[in-house]
Amino acid sequence: MHPHTILMNANDNVAIVANDGGLPMGAVLSNGVVLRDKVPQGHKVALVNIGANAPVLRYGVAIGYALRDIPAGAWVHERLLQLPGARSLDDLPQCTATVPAPAPLLGYTFEGYKNPDGSVGTRNILGITTTVQCVAGVVEFAVEKIKRELLPDYPRVDDVIGLEHSYGCGVAIDAPGAEIPIRTLRNISMNPNFGGELMVVSLGCEKLPPGKLMPAGSIPLAQLQGPDGALDVVCLQDEAHEGFMSMIDHIVQSARPHLARLNARQRETVPASELAVGVQCGGSDAFSGVTANPAVGFCTDLLVRAGATVMFSETTEVRDGIAQLTARASTPQVAQAMIREMQWYDAYLGRGKVDRSANTTPGNKQGGLSNIVEKAMGSIVKSGTLPITGVLSPGEKLQQKGLIYAATPASDFICGTLQLAAGMNLHVFTTGRGTPYGLAEVPVIKVATRTALAKRWHDLMDINAGTIADGHQSIEDVGWELFHVLLDVASGRKKTWAEHWKLKNALVLFNPAPVT
Ligand code: CA
Repeated sequence: MHPHTILMNANDNVAIVANDGGLPMGAVLSNGVVLRDKVPQGHKVALVNIGANAPVLRYGVAIGYALRDIPAGAWVHERLLQLPGARSLDDLPQCTATVPAPAPLLGYTFEGYKNPDGSVGTRNILGITTTVQCVAGVVEFAVEKIKRELLPDYPRVDDVIGLEHSYGCGVAIDAPGAEIPIRTLRNISMNPNFGGELMVVSLGCEKLPPGKLMPAGSIPLAQLQGPDGALDVVCLQDEAHEGFMSMIDHIVQSARPHLARLNARQRETVPASELAVGVQCGGSDAFSGVTANPAVGFCTDLLVRAGATVMFSETTEVRDGIAQLTARASTPQVAQAMIREMQWYDAYLGRGKVDRSANTTPGNKQGGLSNIVEKAMGSIVKSGTLPITGVLSPGEKLQQKGLIYAATPASDFICGTLQLAAGMNLHVFTTGRGTPYGLAEVPVIKVATRTALAKRWHDLMDINAGTIADGHQSIEDVGWELFHVLLDVASGRKKTWAEHWKLKNALVLFNPAPVT
């Protein structure tokens, strides 16, 4: 076996072992260093002697400080590293990175569904909004009946989904922070893949009634299609309902006109600038920041050059890279908005008596990621290299195109839910440890960081970026492959594996406010 290690930056004093199965003690690296330990795949090896308290450098930054002398050839694992303190938010560089204006990328299109509000859908779905978890079972029953009895008559409608969640009852509805889950639900209902067809099922006694979820003026008039131009609501406690089947029939009958309008829609050729792509990672390993995330970052640059929108998120995973990101802000306002989101999140975590270091999982560490600094450096490369032009607080809706920092927790389902609310129409998800993640609302394109995972999960992973570590493809090759796959999936010409198997994770709201 030929030892293969990957160095991220010429200044680094550690490299990661790329060989499948790792490398044995005694293996000789290309620089002549002999391994003093068995080093697992994805883990770090010291390239030189690193003295106690000296920085351990990966990505050209200190991911930690040596707790004792580490000789060349030793396995550098998390127990040898002191975590650096969090970067102060007081003196960050703002707009200092000089990025040459990129050449526009013209001529790329996809086949999408144009919406009345100007957004474009990649799927044609009836999404039924719920105001409270109490109605979830009834809505699920009704959705099954609609799919069984009505959907065959509307062949151009891809799916019917109940937008189920845990909010609405027993919540402190006016507490600071409550605006986040409320606007998240409101904005998800207007996701481009639902075609502007608003249909709400409510219980009747909940803290979050339809009028509070969708106040007049918060939604485009074109989306009000109930009687008298009001919101289309089925209220289960309505006295007109005698028995369970009466509720079900009411929901099923209400769905008919929505399905008819959705079914009349046709895909049209639109420019690639109509893509709104949310990127995130989950189940990360040391290859995430070497293969999949850099390839996603290259694709992010392509998309932004094509005029599209890319959202990157996961606040605890960008916190340690914040100086690089504020430097890339297009204006001081954007830099300050990023800092505001970091401050808010530091305070949020502080209330729970934790900090960003609570992010890394046991699986991350087994996969070679020693701590949150190393994970963050590998995570933010998904954002590519171009200026950051906008910032969204959790649950807010996109108002502009370009590269957007959409502040969200790193939790896969919460991040996905908030990116849905922002208005994403495609989701890119990288994984090294492996997760079968999927969403019912938008296609999720999963990118594997390692060939071994892509082979083992051949019918779950859509793209293999492990070929970069294997030396068979470049970051640019995989980035372009992803770009073309995104256009094919957006057009409905290609289904993702998660769509093929109908894998879907629940919507999970971010609720920082109290529950009563
Ligand atoms: Ca995540």
